[in-house]
Amino acid sequence: MKRFWQSLYGKISLIFLSLLLLLGIAQIIIGLHFSSRFLEESDQKLNHDLAANLAKHFAPFLQDSINYAAIEQSFHEMMVMNPRVEFYLLDEAGNILTYFADPSKIKRKSVAMEPIRQFLSEKSPALPLYGDDPRDQQRRKPISVTPISIPPDKNGYLYVILGGELYDSARAMAEGSYILQTGGVIIGIILVLTAAVGLLLFFFLTRRLGHLISVVEKFEAGNYDERISSDARDEIGRLGIAIDKMAETIQANMEEIRSNDQLRRELIANVSHDLRSPLASIQGYLETVLMKYEQINDQQKRSYLQTVFKNVTRLERLVNDLFELSKLDAKQVQPQLESFSIAELTQDVVLKYQPQAEKKGVALRAVLPEELPFVAGDIAMIDRALSNLIENAINYTTQGGEVIIELQRQDNGVQIRISDTGRGIPPEDLPYIFDRFYRVEKSRASEGTGLGLAITKKILEAHHSEIAVESEPERGTTFAFGLESGLKV
Ligand code: ADP
Repeated sequence: MKRFWQSLYGKISLIFLSLLLLLGIAQIIIGLHFSSRFLEESDQKLNHDLAANLAKHFAPFLQDSINYAAIEQSFHEMMVMNPRVEFYLLDEAGNILTYFADPSKIKRKSVAMEPIRQFLSEKSPALPLYGDDPRDQQRRKPISVTPISIPPDKNGYLYVILGGELYDSARAMAEGSYILQTGGVIIGIILVLTAAVGLLLFFFLTRRLGHLISVVEKFEAGNYDERISSDARDEIGRLGIAIDKMAETIQANMEEIRSNDQLRRELIANVSHDLRSPLASIQGYLETVLMKYEQINDQQKRSYLQTVFKNVTRLERLVNDLFELSKLDAKQVQPQLESFSIAELTQDVVLKYQPQAEKKGVALRAVLPEELPFVAGDIAMIDRALSNLIENAINYTTQGGEVIIELQRQDNGVQIRISDTGRGIPPEDLPYIFDRFYRVEKSRASEGTGLGLAITKKILEAHHSEIAVESEPERGTTFAFGLESGLKV
């Protein structure tokens, strides 16, 4: 039970029920107050002219002198016929001349004149208009009053209190039962119905919150696929959508961390493998040279040392590539953008690789249009990307083949295509060739580190460019990327 009152639903219910109770009480109080005012007002309206109409009845008793006995008798008869009213004869100053009642009940000798004047002077005074009740020191009640002449030559008033003492007690009894009946039953039923509907609505509203909490708790416990899937547009619905989005982001981040972790493991495994083989080879050859120094001839020594040198070069290249890739990954190197002629750079790179191509019997040439815009980029980085692609093209093309670097103007810059007539890449390998350490020939017998294309892709990403590849086994491969034009300097 304590838990219930601590819950949001319990608290809302408590507040709601308290408000409802207050409302009920206020309703009864206001209802009673206004109903009694309403009664008084309608009573006074109905009996507004009562005093004036009855005045004629007293005229015979006020001829030469005041016939008190006859007047009191008349008052008595009228009060018997209509117990709701009490009659008083007043002089013009408001002093009570006569009445019909037990004298001990009369608590005032005179009544205030102001309400009498107001009653008589105004055409339609604001009702109910209260005058002093002679039967109480404080009480005021609705009145009806009319001027009357009092012998010998004075003026006075016939003063009628509407809703006299008898009426009061009867009304109090009726009101008592009215409260019990209306307040206790009808209002009670309305309150109970409102409370039931309210509590039901609050229950459904807070139940949705309960659903949010249970989903968040399940998520916290490791059930990351749990979702709220709310389509309501209210605050709770929006909270649900926000929590779902947050869960989505957390899950994506976790997956990224997981795959990064996986990548890191693979990377470490690949790096250690790629470092171990040249190191083992270096160690082996150096050991042989040292141990059999006397037995082997100069030519063998040279050949062994050349192998060692080749492996050291390969190691150096691997370490350099790794270092460069890690800097690109960490975004430590940002391209230093400048405008340069991509045609000139292409010619330089082609010249650099010409000897290598010639050695392999591969024709290497560039196709450059006359007018080409300058491009924006980091010259050293683009040089590296271009070199990687051209070197690969030469490496994977056999004697008699051809490597062509073609530049073409495009909408907002220049497109660079490096095509070869080499052995091509099998379609199943194509999606992975930009992954680090990925090689089509799994033996790792090739010279390459398997990092060249990964570095090239990263460099182009840093230039907001994407590299595309098309390849057909035994026919050749084409790599293409674009560079945005820069200002001609
Ligand atoms: P590597 O240093 O081994 O060349 P890269 O990342 O540059 O590493 O290339 C990844 C793999 O993609 C290469 O091992 C090779 O199998 C394949 N590849 C790249 N360029 C070409 C090409 N022009 N023709 C055929 N295969 C290629």
